Amino acid sequence: MIEQERLIEKAFLALEHAYAPYSGFQVGACIQTRDDHYILGANIENAAYGSTNCAERSAVFAAYSMGYRKEDLKALAVVTRAKQITTPCGACRQVLSELLNADTPIYLSNGIEVAVTNMKELLPAGFGADDLKSAN
Ligand SMILES: [Zn+2]
Repeated sequence: MIEQERLIEKAFLALEHAYAPYSGFQVGACIQTRDDHYILGANIENAAYGSTNCAERSAVFAAYSMGYRKEDLKALAVVTRAKQITTPCGACRQVLSELLNADTPIYLSNGIEVAVTNMKELLPAGFGADDLKSAN
C-alpha cells in the first residue's frame, strides 16, 4: 500500500468517530509525522454551533498536544463521504497556515477521488505571525 493510501485509510477510520448529530456531515483527518506516527482527528459538533471543531483542527491540535511541531509533520489527509472533494473551511485554513509548513502535502478524498494541495495554495495571502511583527 502506498503511503498516501495508508494515510487516507486512517483518516476514514477517524471519520467513523465523527460526532456530527446536527449536520450529519462526518469528516475525518489524519496527520502522518516524520517519525511515522498517525494522529487522528474527527469533527466534533456542539449544540452551540460555534463551539464545533473540525476534523483537521482536531488532528493538528492533537499532534501539537503530543509535542509535535510543523517541521515534524509530514502530511495531512482530510476525508468525507461527500459527492465532491471537500476543502478545509476558512477557520481551518487560518489555523493550518500557522501549524503546517506551507508545502506540507494535504490529501483530500471523498473515497472516490483524491486531490493533493498545500497551505500555499489554500491560503496564499493569509494573515500570520509576520503581520503582527510588522506593527511593532
Ligand atoms: Zn474547518
